[in-house]
Amino acid sequence: MRVAVVGSGACGLAFAKNLLPLTPHVTLFEACAQAGGVWRYRDPRKGEGEGPMYRSLRTNLPAPLMAFRDHPFPGAGKGSSFPTHEEVQGYLLSYRDAFELQPLTRAGTTVTDVAFSTEPSCFPSLPAVAVTSATASSPPTTELFDLCVIATGHYAVPSIPPSLLPLAAKFPGSFHSVRYDGPAPLAGRTVLIVGGRASGSDIAREISPHARKVYVSDPTPPAVDPANPPPGNVRSVGRTEGLAAGGGVAVAGGPPLPDVDLCIFATGYDYDFPFLSPAVLSAPRGDRRVAPLYKQLWHATRPNLVLGGLPHSVVPFPLFEMQARAVGRCAGEGFRNLPGGGEREAEAGRDREGNGGGGGGSASGKRARGRVQDSHFLGDGQWAYLRELAEIAGEAGEGLEKYLESSRGMYEHAGAQRKKVPMGGKDDYREVVYEREHGGDWEWSHH
Ligand SMILES: Cc1cc2nc3c(=O)[nH]c(=O)nc-3n(C[C@H](O)[C@H](O)[C@H](O)COP(=O)(O)OP(=O)(O)OC[C@H]3O[C@@H](n4cnc5c(N)ncnc54)[C@H](O)[C@@H]3O)c2cc1C
Repeated sequence: MRVAVVGSGACGLAFAKNLLPLTPHVTLFEACAQAGGVWRYRDPRKGEGEGPMYRSLRTNLPAPLMAFRDHPFPGAGKGSSFPTHEEVQGYLLSYRDAFELQPLTRAGTTVTDVAFSTEPSCFPSLPAVAVTSATASSPPTTELFDLCVIATGHYAVPSIPPSLLPLAAKFPGSFHSVRYDGPAPLAGRTVLIVGGRASGSDIAREISPHARKVYVSDPTPPAVDPANPPPGNVRSVGRTEGLAAGGGVAVAGGPPLPDVDLCIFATGYDYDFPFLSPAVLSAPRGDRRVAPLYKQLWHATRPNLVLGGLPHSVVPFPLFEMQARAVGRCAGEGFRNLPGGGEREAEAGRDREGNGGGGGGSASGKRARGRVQDSHFLGDGQWAYLRELAEIAGEAGEGLEKYLESSRGMYEHAGAQRKKVPMGGKDDYREVVYEREHGGDWEWSHH
């Protein structure tokens, strides 16, 4: 069996490692010189470009929770359970080396086209997948694979809602959070951060000692706890609606903000697969939905094309690992342990209709403003999703339940600590130390 994995971030590495037992013929295509994906920090001061990691970033999940099940996170964080981006990158490279994935990698090789070929694959009635790739010094070449996993991530194309673009024009110096690297350029400014989730709240905390004033705008601004208020210069406001008629910025549920100097758009990223024809896979800009997929993973009609790592608001590395094991098991069984094409397509279609959101599997789309939004949000649905994948991988059982319960306990505990931090306030939750047995009963504790 010939396997292509596109991307050697955490997801691609997990797929390569877990598909290797099936076949030695695994090729890991990576556009950059090094593995690690988003965790490979690009230092703008050294002209390395930009990326979603900024200089001081620490994880918002504890390392023992983030770790792959088959590779513990050694001594992360030097006393903190929330490692720096350098430490996570070091961990991913140690995973690559421990499982000897480097020899499979074609670094500096960009995949430019993925299409179903007219040639058969090794699977009955499934065509081979033609992968075209190029390097800086060689012309594009096309190779055929029996199974192709796309693991190119979803933090490369910044998304700013079109209704907010006039703000960027009106307030020079405004930028998307992908370009944020530190607080110095914001000293003395009044900043509106649009989006109050992980990135927005971390940036608010980091810039509040330097900026004159910080507004953090979110459709559901957190309630202020009088016993634990935000810093005096930080204010939570409602959804940003655009330019106000008389100047300033219009926000829901309150008067316009009159004194904004610039905006930081912490408004997320779009899914983007420039190497796939929309006839094969649709991921329209602004739609936050990749289709048609079974279990957010397998192409619904041709499951030898796999889209790894799409779910978000999850514990990513172990989820990638479980996806990879499920795909490995299916490929090993010639996809006979997946339901038939009709059933897969019907489930993919239910996602299109939306079901109120929150579930695992394929049908997690939320219907809002008349369309399905954010189909790949899982949150609390991730545990059900992992169980579904474990069933497919043949790994369901008591051992897995112990692992999932332990993960869920740590995830909920760390999340509750994080939510106690007032907007822009000190990130005390990162001072909690988490420990967990790696394997066995996966018992965990914190202090
Ligand atoms: C700011 C930020 C903070 C985060 N914090 C946490 C955290 O605290 N804990 C946590 O667990 N997760 C966190 N995450 C989530 C993080 O994205 C995942 O942990 C994970 O690293 C994603 O891995 P990936 O492999 O799916 O994608 P990526 O890391 O984006 O890797 C994709 C790879 O594909 C390559 N590629 C892309 N296109 C091509 C092509 N055409 N050809 C060849 N190669 C290609 C890229 O070069 C890249 O190496 C955070 C994410 C962000 C953006």
